[in-house]
Amino acid sequence: MEKDRKLIIAGNWKMNKTVSESLDLIQGLLREVQQVKEVDMVVCPPFTALSEVSRKVIDTQIRLGAQNMSEQGVGAFTGEIAAEMLKEFLVRYVILGHSERRQYQEETDCLIAKKALAAHVASIKPIVCVGETLEQRESGVTNDVVGSQIKGSLAGLSSQQMLETIIAYEPVWAIGTGKTASSEQAQEVHQFIRGVLSDLHGDEIARQVRIQYGGSVKPGNARELMSQPDIDGALVGGASLDAKNFSEIILNSI
Ligand code: PEP
Repeated sequence: MEKDRKLIIAGNWKMNKTVSESLDLIQGLLREVQQVKEVDMVVCPPFTALSEVSRKVIDTQIRLGAQNMSEQGVGAFTGEIAAEMLKEFLVRYVILGHSERRQYQEETDCLIAKKALAAHVASIKPIVCVGETLEQRESGVTNDVVGSQIKGSLAGLSSQQMLETIIAYEPVWAIGTGKTASSEQAQEVHQFIRGVLSDLHGDEIARQVRIQYGGSVKPGNARELMSQPDIDGALVGGASLDAKNFSEIILNSI
């Protein structure tokens, strides 16, 4: 059956790329994919490059995302960036709860849920990341871990906000390791996540929410992953740092 959810493919540049490197990357990418309309394409540069990249993607098919934001609106929060500040650069998406932030900044589901609400208040769509570690997978608790991350990180969202939220299933053991979940392994968890969304918001909402897969997505495995019934796009790390690789992921997914 044809999926009626539009694919969304986002590149997470992480702590890579100076401003001039970011400009090279976005220009290269625009050359390859500026005609693509079938996929929602998003790039998430570091904060320092948002302004310049924003100028380049304005009036193109590529949308801008940030890699994190504060749950607070304004005030004495040294080093933080608020949603309204991101909006100045026409940021439409924000990655929240990436496993690197859960691990190194000790972000909790509760904090991520506050950030997701703050993003919605500013009309920025959150891309909320969940995923199990290798140890958790091997001890058979993947669904328990992912189910509890979904419930905790999306707590308090209305059904309308849920529709405007993207979930990224990223098994921690597949991020930056070159190990991809097989398309069957990924599909199994995506289907499980849709079931949890259905328990929370009903079948109709669950059917419409887009769930990305992330973890060593490359031009060679994108098509098979995207052809799974519950996989609606990709969150791409390493391969998004190269215009040719990222554009091939997009083009191979159509
Ligand atoms: C990520 O960090 O979100 C990610 C999926 O990284 P990579 O594609 O490099 O595995």
